[in-house]
Amino acid sequence: MRKHNFYAGPSTLPLPVLEELRDQMVDYDGKGLSLVETSHRSKEYDAVHNAALDGLRKHLELSDDYDVLLLGGGATLQFGMIPMNFLSEGEHADIVVSGSWAKKALDDMNAIAAANILFDGADSAYTTLPSPETVKPSSGSRYVHIASNETIGGLQWKSFPKTGDVPLFVDMSSDILSRKVDMGQFGLAFAGAQKNLGPAGVTVVIIRKDLIEQGRKGLPAYLSYRTHADKGSLYNTPPVFCIHALSLVMNWITDQGGLGAVEGTNDKKAALLYGMINENPDFFRCPVHPAHRSSMNVVFRLPTEDLESEFIKGAAAEGMVGLKGHRSVGGVRASLYNALPIESVETLTGYMKSFASGHGV
Ligand SMILES: *Cc1c(COP(=O)(O)O)cnc(C)c1O
Repeated sequence: MRKHNFYAGPSTLPLPVLEELRDQMVDYDGKGLSLVETSHRSKEYDAVHNAALDGLRKHLELSDDYDVLLLGGGATLQFGMIPMNFLSEGEHADIVVSGSWAKKALDDMNAIAAANILFDGADSAYTTLPSPETVKPSSGSRYVHIASNETIGGLQWKSFPKTGDVPLFVDMSSDILSRKVDMGQFGLAFAGAQKNLGPAGVTVVIIRKDLIEQGRKGLPAYLSYRTHADKGSLYNTPPVFCIHALSLVMNWITDQGGLGAVEGTNDKKAALLYGMINENPDFFRCPVHPAHRSSMNVVFRLPTEDLESEFIKGAAAEGMVGLKGHRSVGGVRASLYNALPIESVETLTGYMKSFASGHGV
């Protein structure tokens, strides 16, 4: 029996996608060899590569102003690649420090040039975000960096700052394609695949073409966006298996009825779980400001750490895995990515109810 998989990443993938990958593993499409044994310069792989790019473009509703790149190095490489490409000596960019992932981006920005912090959530222990209207770029800033969803803290921007002529760059690793978002408001968006898009190993970068042109010259080839844009993400060997899996996930979104339908289910899942937390305020507590609670990563606490351990252990015994909060913050975290069925959330809320009443609530 498959587990109810609440892992934050790598995380659950749609069962039909896993089954298709299994069926094609040894013999891809009747070709007599596996796709992972096939040259990335072959016409077989070419079709896979284009299917992945087309699927992303379709579901994200991207205009021709944007390029889509399929890179390695994880979302983490983007923390460094972005300032390398857009900041020269003496220049600076702005950042909203909303939690663990924005902090990592801040460190890498500072390694290349000067970062200017527009907001730091430290005072609230990273449980709230600024309201978008208050986020204004500083004078001379090259771009503004934000994380659309803080995977560890469980915070999510519900609408985005308007930064005018200064492009907005967004780390969408843990909520890309979980809801409809107008991508036209971003200069650059990136996401590691292993939360909503596929297995770990490929990172999607969506970048406005005019920004690629403005990018710094003279960087090592792999570190320059221009290289990958010029070569259609085939400058070097791409992670072919991950890209194939990603293309199947794009088809799966289509089969669900498109992104609108996926978003509808995600909203229901989040409402169920936050509903259970809110109905039992003496036992469950979500530390995140209600306006900024993530629909992807739901974090909550129980009255004591001992109860939290008991809760997580008991859940595992009932087939629910991945509920332990990140080691840096503790508590419980349930990740509700696209591929998590609503039945898994119902199983969790049922368990929460009986656990609470078993402890006198
Ligand atoms: C997981 C995650 C990352 C890091 O991704 P890697 O692929 O491990 O480098 C960065 N940002 C956010 C918001 C994430 O959730």
